[in-house]
Formats: sequence, structure tokens, C-alpha cells
Amino acid sequence: MPQSWDAKYFDGKSPQSMLVRIQLLPKGVMLHFMDGRSQHWKHESFSIVRDRESGPIRLLRGDFPQETVEIPDQGFASVLEQKGLSGKGWRTSWKQKSISVFAAIVLFSGILYWILDPEQPGITRWMVQWIPVSLEEQLGEMALTQLFPNRQTCSTPKGDRALETLMLSLIPRDDPYRYQIEIIRSPQVNALAFPGGKLVLFSGLLESLPSAESLAGILAHEIQHVRLQHGTQNLMRQLAFSGMVKLMASDSGAFLEQMLEGAKTLAILNYSRSFETEADLGAAELLKQQGFSQDFLVQAFRSFENNEAVLDSAVPQYFSTHPDLTERIKILENQNRSLESSGTGKILNPQSWKELKNICANVNSP
Ligand SMILES: [Zn+2]
Repeated sequence: MPQSWDAKYFDGKSPQSMLVRIQLLPKGVMLHFMDGRSQHWKHESFSIVRDRESGPIRLLRGDFPQETVEIPDQGFASVLEQKGLSGKGWRTSWKQKSISVFAAIVLFSGILYWILDPEQPGITRWMVQWIPVSLEEQLGEMALTQLFPNRQTCSTPKGDRALETLMLSLIPRDDPYRYQIEIIRSPQVNALAFPGGKLVLFSGLLESLPSAESLAGILAHEIQHVRLQHGTQNLMRQLAFSGMVKLMASDSGAFLEQMLEGAKTLAILNYSRSFETEADLGAAELLKQQGFSQDFLVQAFRSFENNEAVLDSAVPQYFSTHPDLTERIKILENQNRSLESSGTGKILNPQSWKELKNICANVNSP
């Protein structure tokens, strides 16, 4: 006779239990009652629950009131584990346990999210500094692939060299990120900074800029989004927020799945007003620190101010979600006045700037 264990059976209607012997079968369990009856429970008809690490295993079947079989013998637990029972059973109960720990963490950060004004991102800033650069790189890569799976990037030997020269002159020696920039052929007047150092510049923006200096201003701004971990902070907030919503909906089964799904959205790159201001001011400081004029970003903004086509464009914009342009220029100029006199470094020679600006000229339309 195959191995069997003592168990208590509750029919769910009366508080009394009956003593049974339980036997594991390939496709379920067999219950042998003392009066000679027996019952076959198929795997898919019951779930396996264990409330404590070494507590009794309970098998639950049916809707309320549920039938329950309680098996106190630890031997039964280890045999279940060896058999790797799946589906509605064994694994689910453990998965649920780890999800609830995760949920507790997310709930906690969710509460912090609600307490703290999203415009004053103190706690997420503190939290993201512990996230390794390599993880941010993976997140950024994931988001980039998700958003632009079939992107057409522009590249020419001379244009690439000019872009590299420009990027290298903007990045401080001790910067922990490895920046990679892609120019995507698109009429969008926009640039994006992903967690971990990936930058995207749309040809629509590149071609509307009047000078290499103004491009340097824009790129310094995007670099600061990376250095200040704005995307990663948004991701944390988003996870905390979606975690809260999912918990309130108490949909624990699909919890993890939906949360990871939610993490992939464009919202990671949708920076708040305070993040934008911070990146603007940081860009001016970075430019100065690297030996250039702190006014390069102002120069870019001024050129947009005079460019109706850019401002009226219907595609998602560099400025659409941001403080309005005039306000941004005012804040930036206020700070820049208080910085000491500007650096005088040259960004690119006119020929290199021309090569870079026309980098998409020979790419065929997608
Ligand atoms: Zn920005």
C-alpha cells in the first residue's frame, strides 16, 4: 500500500472533524474515512495552504463553506515538495506568500508616495541612490526597446564623430554612467533621457537647433536627467502607486504581472515640473563646470521662442508637459547671473556641426 498520513477532515458545515487517512495519487489525493468510504480529490479541485513555516498543511476544496483536510505530519509537506505539485496547489501558496511580502514593501512606499508631494521628491531620491547603475541601464534599455522597437537611427562617419566629440566634452570624468546617444529619424521636436544613460535625440529637434552650442545645452539637460536619476525616481513612484491601486483592488493573483507591465510605460520619462527645472539649472552648472558658457541651454530655448513651427507642432513636444518656455528661461537666467563668468570653450567647428545636423539627411524615410 502506498504511503498514507493521518489527517482531520472538516465538511465545512459542522465544527466536528473526522479522522481520515490521506494518500497521494498521481493526479490528486485519496481520503479514506473510518467508515470505509473514500473520496478522490483531483488536483485542480483543491488548493494547498500553509499558514506558518512548520504549521499543518491544509487542503481546501469548493466554495464557501469549504471542505478542509488538515495534515499535521511534516512528512506530508516534504513529499508534496518533492513531487513539486503545481497549479492551484502547492506553488501558488508559496508564491502568494512572497507576493504579500513584496506587496507590503510596495504598500509602504505607496504610503510614502501619498504623504510626500510628488513635486518634492525627497524619499524617492534617497531610495534610488541605492539602485545600482547596472540595474538602471537594464531598465533604460527595456524602456527604449519597448517604446521604439523599430526605430531607424541616423549615422554617418563624420556625423557620429562630431556627436561623440560633443558628448565627450560634456561628460565629467568621474561620471558613473556610460552615455549612449541615438539620433532617431522623426519629425518630433524632442529628446529623451532613459535611466542608466541612454539618450534619444529626434532629428526634428536636431534640425531645428541653430547651433552646436544650443545642442550642447539640450544634451546637458538630458544628461542631468540621467545623473539626477529622474527616470528611475518616476519608476519607483509608479511602482508604488500601481502597487497601491492593485492592493486596493485586492487582485493578488495577477498582482506581480500587472505591476511589471505597468512599469514599462512612457510615464517613466514624463518628468515633473520640478525635475525639469532641476535639469535646466543642473545643465547650466554642468556646462560651466566643463568649461563652456552656462548660457547654451538658454540659447536653445530662445531659438524655440522664435520658432512658431516648433511651438505649434502637434507631435509630443519637448515643452508640452513642462513649465512654459518664458518661465523656464527666466528661472535659468536668474541662476546663470549668479554663477561666475562663463567659460569660453568651443563645442564644435562649423564643419562638424554641419555634418552632425545633416546626419539624417541621407537616411531614407521609414
Ligand atoms: Zn527634460
